[in-house]
Amino acid sequence: MIDFIHVSKVYKDNGAKALNDVTLHIDQGEFVFVVGASGAGKSTFLKTIMREEVPTEGEVIIDGQNLNKMKARKVPYYRRKLGIVFQDFRLIPTKTVYENVAFAMHVIGASQRDISRRVAYALTLVGLSGKAKNYPNQLSGGEQQRVALARALVNDAEIIIADEPTGNIDPEMSKDIVDLLEQININKKNTIIMVTHEVDLIKKYNKRVVTIKNGVVVSDTAHPEIAEAVLEQAVENMPSGYYYAPTEDAEIEDFLKSYGADEAPEGFKLDTSRIREDS
Ligand code: ADP
Repeated sequence: MIDFIHVSKVYKDNGAKALNDVTLHIDQGEFVFVVGASGAGKSTFLKTIMREEVPTEGEVIIDGQNLNKMKARKVPYYRRKLGIVFQDFRLIPTKTVYENVAFAMHVIGASQRDISRRVAYALTLVGLSGKAKNYPNQLSGGEQQRVALARALVNDAEIIIADEPTGNIDPEMSKDIVDLLEQININKKNTIIMVTHEVDLIKKYNKRVVTIKNGVVVSDTAHPEIAEAVLEQAVENMPSGYYYAPTEDAEIEDFLKSYGADEAPEGFKLDTSRIREDS
């Protein structure tokens, strides 16, 4: 389902080699952890799957589609296959839980009927039906991340990409989030790729672990005990977590586009005063 064939990525502006000859295959329905220190190339790996970056060399093939050759106008449609969860949740603070999830469907032109049905279902999946009318700042970090997960699931994404989804939440809730991802993976058979640097968390699950160091896949194993040694080395010198919230309309627009919208909906206006207050 996901194939990287000798993929390298060099950023032109600073010459950083973020990925170096990466070749790997991820099957449909697999759950894969991707780990490595800061600057190892994890985000670049995800960005090439999201088609936000195109490799300098090699090919990325998703579901038989060669992303290098994909025309720009096809990219928003391709992205509808993806459900993306970020470390900083990226919920819209002026919208309720329900509206945040509904928005991901609204921007791709779903009917009102489908929206009501699917949003209710997605909120049930993440155990948040009772909080549909709450605003993000009335929820804990773990709950906010569950809303983000509902939003990633609501359009029936085939691939869930989770970029440090537990980076801003406490360890107990982190386990809840990964348990939820695991349940979703088992029940709905989506492919799940979760980037993290939390070794302790990975050790609790018996999953494939791909370790990236300086752009190279240095380990790819289904045995947590083998991964552990490599991991502990790879995550040395990790900086502590950071918090980022989108503060500009442009960033929100970019974010919405990453959800498969061709453009931000007409009349879309974000009240940034409220975001600054929350962040
Ligand atoms: P990670 O997600 O593991 O922290 P990244 O993929 O963000 O790693 O970064 C890998 C390398 O590529 C780093 O050296 C980083 O500085 C560089 N890099 C990442 N994004 C860009 C960019 N947009 N422009 C230039 N260099 C970048």
